[in-house]
Amino acid sequence: MNTRPWRKNMSLDDEKILNVGSGKQFGPEHAEALVRIEHLSKKYVQRRPLTRTEFAVRALEDANLTIRRGTTLALVGESGAGKSTLGRCLALLEAPDSGEIWFDGKNLPRLSRRELFPMHRQIQLIFQDPTSALNPGMTAEEIIAEPLAIHREGTKAQRRERARELMEQVGLPASLERKRPLEFSGGQRQRLAIARSLALEPKLLVLDEALSSLDLLNQELILKLLADLQRIHSLTYLHISHDLRLVSQFADEVAVMHEGRIVEQQPASELFTRPLNSYTQELLAAMPSLESICAGRLA
Ligand code: ADP
Ligand code: MG
Repeated sequence: MNTRPWRKNMSLDDEKILNVGSGKQFGPEHAEALVRIEHLSKKYVQRRPLTRTEFAVRALEDANLTIRRGTTLALVGESGAGKSTLGRCLALLEAPDSGEIWFDGKNLPRLSRRELFPMHRQIQLIFQDPTSALNPGMTAEEIIAEPLAIHREGTKAQRRERARELMEQVGLPASLERKRPLEFSGGQRQRLAIARSLALEPKLLVLDEALSSLDLLNQELILKLLADLQRIHSLTYLHISHDLRLVSQFADEVAVMHEGRIVEQQPASELFTRPLNSYTQELLAAMPSLESICAGRLA
């Protein structure tokens, strides 16, 4: 299932016109920015296994990125490129060494602890492995309602009602509210993680390889769910993925990361057909199914 099925049988110009109908005037690159990452850098200190000598890893090196409102930006690149580090900095789980993260007009690294607290609800992170992200001792309803309790929203009864609503929204019957994470399938657990992330009505979801542990059918079903939720809640997604086949199905724009830098950001239709950067060209050439992707998009 392709969540952007209209892209088949369509020229690139047709696509740009069609984007008007999806609320994105003249293509994703013209929508207003929700996030602007500028000159973001972060180093980690690691130790060599045998000698135990320290060395620095530059996970982010002057990275620049724009994520536009209501659109999906895919962040791609090989393992170790710095994608998760960028996602964690944006989701306020780590602080960069230097650089700016403009989110809805606020520069996150410059905010005080008190100013940051309300920002946490606006940016939610979803991981690859929902099992480790969900407390196994809690019921589905408790898991979804917990962020509301932390932010002191509503009464217990109201929070429970909201959790039941969110379960239905992500395609989990509310009758399963008493079940615990391990009683759900992998796909259902990722739905649970998505429901929890939506409880505080965030503006941005950072999905870090969120589909990677799922089988093909569940990947397609969760992609469809994400597309529906994006439309209903006007959500913006930063979707980190190493799977370019999948990226071609969901991305409005693609940013390519290499050794801590963003080497190219382009609308997906351009990037897959006319990659500018030599590293992007290599990455696409290494994909066995690139031809079928292009055929699928442009046939
Ligand atoms: P990606 O998600 O693209 O695979 P990461 O952001 O996880 O890349 O990692 C980028 C680099 O930073 C890698 O070399 C990794 O080993 C290093 N790194 C990431 N997190 C840490 C950490 N907490 N401590 C030390 N090094 C880290
Ligand atoms: Mg990663």
